[in-house]
Amino acid sequence: PVVTRIAPSPTGTMHIGTARTALFNWLFARRHGGQFLLRIEDTDRARSTEQATQTILNGLTWLGLDHDGDIVSQADRADRHAQVAHQMLAEGSAYKCFSTQEEIEAFREEARAAGRSTLFQSPWRDVPAIDHPDAPAVIRLRAPRDGTTVIRDAVQGDVTFRNDQLDDMVLLRSDGTPTYMLAVVVDDHDMGITHVIRGDDHLNNAARQAQIFDAMDWAQPVWAHIPLIHGADGKKLSKRHGATGVEEYAEMGFPARALRNYLARLGWSHGDDEFFTDAQAIEWFDLGGIGRAPARLDLKKLENLSGQHLSTMSDDDILSALHDWSDRAGRAPIDATRLRPAIAIVKDASRTLPQLLDRAHFALTSRPITQDDKSAKALDTVSRGILRELTPHLQNASWSRDALEGVVGDLAQSKGLGLGKLAAPLRAALAGRTATPSVFDMMLVLGRDETLARLQDAAN
Ligand code: GLU
Repeated sequence: PVVTRIAPSPTGTMHIGTARTALFNWLFARRHGGQFLLRIEDTDRARSTEQATQTILNGLTWLGLDHDGDIVSQADRADRHAQVAHQMLAEGSAYKCFSTQEEIEAFREEARAAGRSTLFQSPWRDVPAIDHPDAPAVIRLRAPRDGTTVIRDAVQGDVTFRNDQLDDMVLLRSDGTPTYMLAVVVDDHDMGITHVIRGDDHLNNAARQAQIFDAMDWAQPVWAHIPLIHGADGKKLSKRHGATGVEEYAEMGFPARALRNYLARLGWSHGDDEFFTDAQAIEWFDLGGIGRAPARLDLKKLENLSGQHLSTMSDDDILSALHDWSDRAGRAPIDATRLRPAIAIVKDASRTLPQLLDRAHFALTSRPITQDDKSAKALDTVSRGILRELTPHLQNASWSRDALEGVVGDLAQSKGLGLGKLAAPLRAALAGRTATPSVFDMMLVLGRDETLARLQDAAN
């Protein structure tokens, strides 16, 4: 069975790269009917905060990436990590090293002066226990000195590291706390992780982690190191490129499914498919589709996808996405009763939730309609006269698109005016704005009474 995980360090926001890593792991697990686990790497207690953990959980929840099982706290497992270090010590794949920081520095100085490798080689590697002093010691891995460590990576191919360039890493510090490298390996093993899918900034760590797996005679997981996300200029994504946190994208009003779709395409591809559903992504996702070149974040593409998702979402889904969006920023709650009938006519032309709300302004606002500056200009004396003339025709028309188009078209014709000349004051009367859905759509949504009342307000 497939078991994947993400292992974020809770240090602040949920980076969009972490979100993508989570998505890939989630898709892969769901694809194979496996499990997607969550481990919080909170060993750096000074930097890890409860709030940062909550931010990650909120990000995952918002993105709809449900994890399986209990959340694993790495810090809570320190005893187990230490136990493994001692087991390695007992089995001879690790050793106690009593070298002090000063001695290590001195070793490096000397190596540098002699033009040798400055990788520390502990003099304690081969000293039998009986000759050990009674002093604090770290536990180091007895790493292979010759040959190579090869990471068979599902994305990067075989990546070879020379063992003479990897030192005997510390597994357990002299105060008994585990190092990051040991903790990750023990946790991944104990959690039964079969596939480690993460950013390629961890590729070097993989070589060290592989040595620990081997030393414990544990099977290595399948490695898949994915290229990091870059900005439009091809440089590693950072704040100066714009939004880097998932919550910022949520606040911009992208529906979560659109961000999922976009993030899935960011570094992974399935033929030419750009727009797809979760079900399709789950059906298609494979490690072979992950590219080796860094993907570039492209807001325009995200907006396009978001528009496509909005136009295919049900009214209920749009309403719940909107509720979530307004909640998040503590905005006034959205009046679903007024909005619902307008959704169908505004969703096709909207790329984000706030754009959709803005287009639906005519339905959410109430009389008297406030005119913006441009719209007010459409209500001159002549136009108001036209609105007055139109009123009795609308009173008698059947309330269908054809009938409304007929009534307005007939009046335009009888006055020798283009339809636009009538549409502008109608728009102003109904919405108080110039950028709106079609006047007929608005009339149909508002209904006869409200339409006539707004016309009357504007005409007088
Ligand atoms: N804690 C690491 C990070 O936040 C992830 C480590 C891993 O996936 O192995 O980047």
